[in-house]
Amino acid sequence: MKKLAVNIARLILAVAFILSGFVKAVDPLGTQYKIQDYLVAMGLGRLIPDFMTLSASVLLSTLEFILGICLLFAIRRRMVSKIVLVLMAAMTLLTLWLALTDPISDCGCFGDALVLTNWQTFWKNIVLLTAAVIVWRYPLLMPRLIGETNQWIVMNYSGVFILLVIAGRSLYTLPQFDFRPYHVGTNLRQGWQRMMEGEDSPYAELFMELTDEGEDITEDVLNREGYTFLLVSPHLEQADDSQLDALNQIYEYSLDNGYPFYCLTASTEKGINHWRNITGAEYPFCNTDDITLKTIIRSNLGLLLLKDGVIIRKWSHNNLPDEQDLTGELETSELGQLPSDTVATKILWILTWFVLPLVLLTLADRLWAWSGWLRKRNNNNPLNKEKVIMRKKIVAGNWKMNMNLQDGIALAKELNETLKADKPNCGVVICTPFIHLASIAQFLDQDIIGLGAENCADKEKGAFTGEVSAEMVKSTGAQYVILGHSERREYYKETPEILKEKVLLAQKNGLKVIFCIGESLAEREAGKQNEVVKAELEGSVFNLSEEDFRKIVIAYEPIWAIGTGKTATAEQAEEIHAYIRSIIAEKYGNAVAEDTTILYGGSCKASNAPELFAKPDIDGGLIGGASLKCADFKGIIDAWKK
Ligand code: PEP
Repeated sequence: MKKLAVNIARLILAVAFILSGFVKAVDPLGTQYKIQDYLVAMGLGRLIPDFMTLSASVLLSTLEFILGICLLFAIRRRMVSKIVLVLMAAMTLLTLWLALTDPISDCGCFGDALVLTNWQTFWKNIVLLTAAVIVWRYPLLMPRLIGETNQWIVMNYSGVFILLVIAGRSLYTLPQFDFRPYHVGTNLRQGWQRMMEGEDSPYAELFMELTDEGEDITEDVLNREGYTFLLVSPHLEQADDSQLDALNQIYEYSLDNGYPFYCLTASTEKGINHWRNITGAEYPFCNTDDITLKTIIRSNLGLLLLKDGVIIRKWSHNNLPDEQDLTGELETSELGQLPSDTVATKILWILTWFVLPLVLLTLADRLWAWSGWLRKRNNNNPLNKEKVIMRKKIVAGNWKMNMNLQDGIALAKELNETLKADKPNCGVVICTPFIHLASIAQFLDQDIIGLGAENCADKEKGAFTGEVSAEMVKSTGAQYVILGHSERREYYKETPEILKEKVLLAQKNGLKVIFCIGESLAEREAGKQNEVVKAELEGSVFNLSEEDFRKIVIAYEPIWAIGTGKTATAEQAEEIHAYIRSIIAEKYGNAVAEDTTILYGGSCKASNAPELFAKPDIDGGLIGGASLKCADFKGIIDAWKK
């Protein structure tokens, strides 16, 4: 249920962030105007220059889109869920202020694509904030869609797509999807008529008034049969004048062919005269409302072509039609017709160039992971015996009573950075003294390195001075605990009964137990090693249900090899590991035995680890001395890469 809730929340957030980022990126100028509206409402309108609000618009849309993609693919789960939570908390507060004070009518969350009232926006954000809390609380319950090694491709591809292909292209030309009431194909004549008949309409502010005569020509322009060019510039003072030749050519073309040409602007007479002086413009100018002009076309300058009152073409100043386009009459040329690229063809383009490559990459990644799993499954051991490893390979460090807090933190940090940079091919765990746990848990990337204690109490809680309970260990952020180590059995007289209690309490508190067994030198010399390990298992863990036993990791550690520099030979170790697996099979069946991880411990080093780990029944190591130096420990971990 928890997993289901997290993944529903993740999907809701992913869709909301991707959509919201996309529609903002499609119309960066529209988003910039909205940011400016917010700043004006906060009394900061004049303080922030235009280039900063435009950059903020592009960055915001890119951030939202990439966060959405990361949630969808479960990339950098912990970091992303924290950023999303902070963002949603800030947005919810902002929209509460909007809803209460109403300084602007629409929040602009989804650009012009979906207009919500301020209260609707607030409630939408409450839903998204709740989802963000759920995802932040359990980020690791989101299964990854793509392996870690390929995540950077998804992130970079999405970044380039949204930043350059969508936002950049929209800024250079015009929004590729136009959600405003002046998109190509709009019949302005009909819209205007409905408005005149008293219907609610977005064209209430549309007027064109000749600046020289003061005559309102809106109706004439909209009712005219045939073509009309409308040059649009909210403010001629800020208009781009780099394409004047192209513009003058279009004007001459319109004169030659008898198509009216007007420039619509909200500039003052001074601004218009200045424009006339620098460009030699001879076309008539009309006064129009500046917000309407910004809504009509997201470009200063922009050009519109009307046919029978319908908008059939729009151009930004960067891609005005050129000489070759302007041959012949509009009635017979391609330019004079509605463009062939419909919304459907644009969506198809995005599916082909953005969605499809990501789907193919994901499929290839999953296929590769699956074939890797098969390859490992069919891996032959050096004795040419089939080694089917379904179980987890682990290298666990046992720091024992070494290192003060500062040194321990330094070692854990070094190991964390080293393994983040060079990912291990096995599970890695460090088991530290109690006092290190809480501090190390703060920064350890537990996706890569698990953290564990070296012991826990055999009592739940109460007056047991100096003891540390399993619940306390768990509360530090640790996931593992070593139990039954020979040093505790020998020096602290931990009996099988005591260990049985400890195992039960550790599991009750959600800790994974690394349970140590192993014989002394005398027992080995008397040939009693099998008997000893069997009795240790029977005494403390064979009472567990199958389900609970499956959570146990066994560590076989011959006492005579611990810290002595003497190692069991790979053959000796394999022999007894195979025996341990056989008695697990007797007790719980073959499937459980095959899935149980059995580690070897006892003077294991980088030099002997590859030989030991190559044995079919040795699934890794429990490492004492060699876990106290990052390089030594890493050398053992890397044995799984050989
Ligand atoms: C241990 O104590 O668990 C251990 C294996 O120690 P060392 O590697 O130092 O022999």
